[in-house]
Amino acid sequence: MQKESQGAYRVAAPASVDYNQAPPPPTHLPLALILFGPPGSGKGTQSKLLVKTLGIPQISTGDMLRDHVRRGLAVGTKVEAKMKAGILVKDEVVNRLVEERLAAPDAARGFILDGYPRTRAQAETLCGMLAAKGRDTVVIHLVVDYNVIIARLTGRRVCPVCGTLYNETSKPPKVPGVCDLEGAALIVRDDDREEVIRQRLEAYESQTRPLIDYFREKGKRLYDVDASQETPEAVFRKIEVLIRKP
Ligand code: AMP
Repeated sequence: MQKESQGAYRVAAPASVDYNQAPPPPTHLPLALILFGPPGSGKGTQSKLLVKTLGIPQISTGDMLRDHVRRGLAVGTKVEAKMKAGILVKDEVVNRLVEERLAAPDAARGFILDGYPRTRAQAETLCGMLAAKGRDTVVIHLVVDYNVIIARLTGRRVCPVCGTLYNETSKPPKVPGVCDLEGAALIVRDDDREEVIRQRLEAYESQTRPLIDYFREKGKRLYDVDASQETPEAVFRKIEVLIRKP
């Protein structure tokens, strides 16, 4: 639809429509984009690149939960210990957060899900929500070698002020240990310690990875993208091509 000019819409639409007031024409872009893959596969990085290009929001359950913990909210108190241990929090907690978030006006044109769904129960809830909203869904599965993941996550540093991610080897800050943007001392996320990383990978293997079959059974468009060796920009270019496929 993108290549169609505005004129094409003028001809196709009913005469009563005020074209200056009408919402932008729909494109064939997927409106529900699920970024799927183990922790450290680059879902957060790719989401941020996609937000810029597609103009739809990133919905990261990990970020939402961390925010609840930081602000000392009731949900945060409930989930904090599990998150520190690298264990998945209860389905009903994340399902409710996502349901509320999807109802926000900025998600009306579409959204990028990062870190959700992670269990069969979450996937079923999501499919119900998407069906109700009539969403076109695409799942991008980021495939990354586990040794690469462990190296990435153990080297990961984050700015406690702006959330910018760095990596000691692949994306170091200009001054070691200091955020380029905020000048704040970088920290290691509690769950980026090696024993917790292993726990998170185990949770992925046992509870999340099987969803690949679930998505296939449900007839969702699912693409595997090799994200082990290439730069984030190169991975992003591959994703862009896939999601623009009619
Ligand atoms: P993430 O930043 O996506 O790796 O998430 C960090 C932690 O938040 C996970 O290890 C879980 O404890 C929790 N979490 C995030 N998303 C979910 C989810 N969809 N289901 C259950 N727990 C989640």
